Amino acid sequence: MIPFLDLKNINQKYREQLIEACMRVIDSGWYIGGNELDQFEQNFAAYCGTRYAIGVANGLDALVLTLRAWKELGKLKDGDEVIVPSNTYIASIFAISANQLKPVLVEPDPNTFNLDPTKIEAVITDKTKVILPVHLYGQLAAMPEIMIIAEKYGLLVLEDSAQSHGAAINGKKAGNWGSASGFSFYPGKNLGALGDAGAITTNDTELANMLKALRNYGSHEKYKNLVQGVNSRLDEIQAAMLDIKLKFLDQEVAHRRQIAQIYLRGINNPLIQLPVIQGDATEYQQHVWHLFVIRTQHRDALQQYLTENNIQTLIHYPIPPHQQQAYREWNDLSFPISETMHSTVLSLPISSVLDIKDVQHIVDVCNKFSL
Ligand SMILES: *Cc1c(COP(=O)(O)O)cnc(C)c1O
Repeated sequence: MIPFLDLKNINQKYREQLIEACMRVIDSGWYIGGNELDQFEQNFAAYCGTRYAIGVANGLDALVLTLRAWKELGKLKDGDEVIVPSNTYIASIFAISANQLKPVLVEPDPNTFNLDPTKIEAVITDKTKVILPVHLYGQLAAMPEIMIIAEKYGLLVLEDSAQSHGAAINGKKAGNWGSASGFSFYPGKNLGALGDAGAITTNDTELANMLKALRNYGSHEKYKNLVQGVNSRLDEIQAAMLDIKLKFLDQEVAHRRQIAQIYLRGINNPLIQLPVIQGDATEYQQHVWHLFVIRTQHRDALQQYLTENNIQTLIHYPIPPHQQQAYREWNDLSFPISETMHSTVLSLPISSVLDIKDVQHIVDVCNKFSL
């Protein structure tokens, strides 16, 4: 079986360095909020091109705490509206609901799967305060267009960069477009820890300071609590693992791009629709290919056929957020573009350790698929 994602192999490559870093942390006697976190935060901020990176416990918390920080800073209040793509992974929407803010779902561009900037202005009201674009599957949303709208209406922008570490438009990276950005380092993400972890990037000093307090019981100084914070810290041991893996991120992305090129050039089955890169040149959009998502009217048949041919695939995602039980109140709403996507998408294997020979084989098998 060609696995969809071989996490064991991905981390095995760095085994010696990871062990060495673990031992360094064990022997330091300091496990939370020390040098390893400082180092990783500095290096990750430098990688994204931002002034700050603030480590937190996971990607969901990165989004939840940023919105919460804006509430604490008086920029948002209960009931304010946040524009978010209707086809995102549900975490982006949970972060809004968790803060007593109102998610306003907007349909994606059917070509790129990302928030459609031409549909944003129609839903802006006097309660709209934030746009939350999601850089889905490794491709930046149309950030130049989205930032123009945000500036025109004075809106905050929170990027969900959980799937797009290092993706860029014209060289400007994910995490450095909006007012702030949430990242996840869940093990399967392009930059993955050996457990849960996340971070927020921003250039805003006031926001960075509030986030540093919020993640640590609302405390800047031991036993002084400014706000009712939470415990959402990025452990020293995970920070040390991430700092090693960050050094190899661009190399790993280069391998993902090579795989994507082989799929894009090789798959020519009329029953399969290939992913679309925004803009006319790859120089413009630097896609990091977290997922390689094809579309087909015959999704279940294709998935079964690939399984029979020992190729594991996954669906990102089978049920749109508005049809989830968690949002029963939206179940009768209709978002046709999202619904079509959720019933036609299929993710082919792609990773930093997937063998090129296996990719060629997957192309051949895909091209032989027929009804
Ligand atoms: C993974 C992911 C998250 C949440 O990250 P966790 O670290 O799992 O909490 C948020 N948004 C998107 C788009 C994601 O893919």
